[in-house]
Amino acid sequence: MFESIERVPGDAILGLIQQFKDDPNPNKVDLGVGVYRDEHGNTPILRAVKDAEKKLIDTEQTKAYIGSHGDPQYGEYILQTVLGADSKVLAANRASATQSPGGTGALRLAADFLVSQLPGKAIWLPNPTWPNHLGVFEAARLEIKRYPYVDDNDQFDFDAMLKKLKSIPKGDIVLLHACCHNPTGFDPSQDQWHQILEVVQDRELLPLVDFAYQGFGDGLDEDAYGVRLLADHLDEMVITQSCSKNFGIYRERTGCFIAIAKDEEDMQDVRSQLATTARENYSNPPAHGSAIVATIMGSAELTAAWHRELDEMRDRINDVRQKLVEGLKPHGLADKFAFITDQRGMFSYTGLTEDQVNKLRDEYSIYMVASGRANVAGLNDDNIEYVCKAIADVVGS
Ligand code: PMP
Repeated sequence: MFESIERVPGDAILGLIQQFKDDPNPNKVDLGVGVYRDEHGNTPILRAVKDAEKKLIDTEQTKAYIGSHGDPQYGEYILQTVLGADSKVLAANRASATQSPGGTGALRLAADFLVSQLPGKAIWLPNPTWPNHLGVFEAARLEIKRYPYVDDNDQFDFDAMLKKLKSIPKGDIVLLHACCHNPTGFDPSQDQWHQILEVVQDRELLPLVDFAYQGFGDGLDEDAYGVRLLADHLDEMVITQSCSKNFGIYRERTGCFIAIAKDEEDMQDVRSQLATTARENYSNPPAHGSAIVATIMGSAELTAAWHRELDEMRDRINDVRQKLVEGLKPHGLADKFAFITDQRGMFSYTGLTEDQVNKLRDEYSIYMVASGRANVAGLNDDNIEYVCKAIADVVGS
């Protein structure tokens, strides 16, 4: 039977990881993979996470099933972190949290829930977006449409985005990145979020806000501006959240699907459906990651330690963006790449063409995604000058 099955190419980024591993060049630089790196190029376990795990070893009582919605305490903490402790939505008990296997699991829950409960609605994704949005939504048979996000020069094109959103059929779903847009790094300003809200209200759209990088842009509360604005003004929306980046617990698969309904009654109806969606997918979410997060958030000391480490990660990312533009100055390229300091999060659409990306890889062993997306967290004091020189060479300064 299996002889009829065709081999498909693997994930492009995983292929890049292998190429990087096999490259003997001692100066090689990995700007491809989407994980945070410290100044030594490592993705360490946060100290707050280690301390929480130590505590858990002593206090965990059972490994029995956690339930389809996951740990209610974790859900409560995530709702407060995403919506804000003083959220009107929380006060009215209009939000439901379902713990999920990572942000990806939350997206799949969202897709299955939308297909089964709101059939016939298309989802509008920014172009470009995180490629796995396409994979997950296609797998769930959700109809996908696109709205523009950047112009021909790979710069944020808010006017084009808004114009398209204004033409979306009433009642469709629109996916918005809450912050640190992957892959471009371009986020709407606060004023632009207000304009998005107006269009969402006017077209009666259902926003699906993907919130995978809270705390990586400008801060935990600052990065939630758009999500909270929408939540404060809309009756209904859904949010997919991830703890992979801000707690550095990528492989623990820790996320959350949040549904906001117009009243508690509707919320409970939606919540009951989500338990079924989760059960049919994987029954129960994994418990270790959410236990880490709940342990940290349940302790003032560990929360303070986590905030410090999150601040460190964010400051490093923003610092490295400045250094990259400064490093390009001697090559006469600071103006051309000035937009890099406006972008937020780990990713930067550099505007480099696929040919230039290939040349960086083949001649300098600098690896980034073919679209020109670079993970700036891969830069550090040891490699930044080398990378700037290489960029200057490939763009022909
Ligand atoms: N959404 C976006 C935009 C992402 O970049 C990612 C991770 N790369 C995710 C969701 C999913 O994150 P995870 O499943 O690792 O929690």
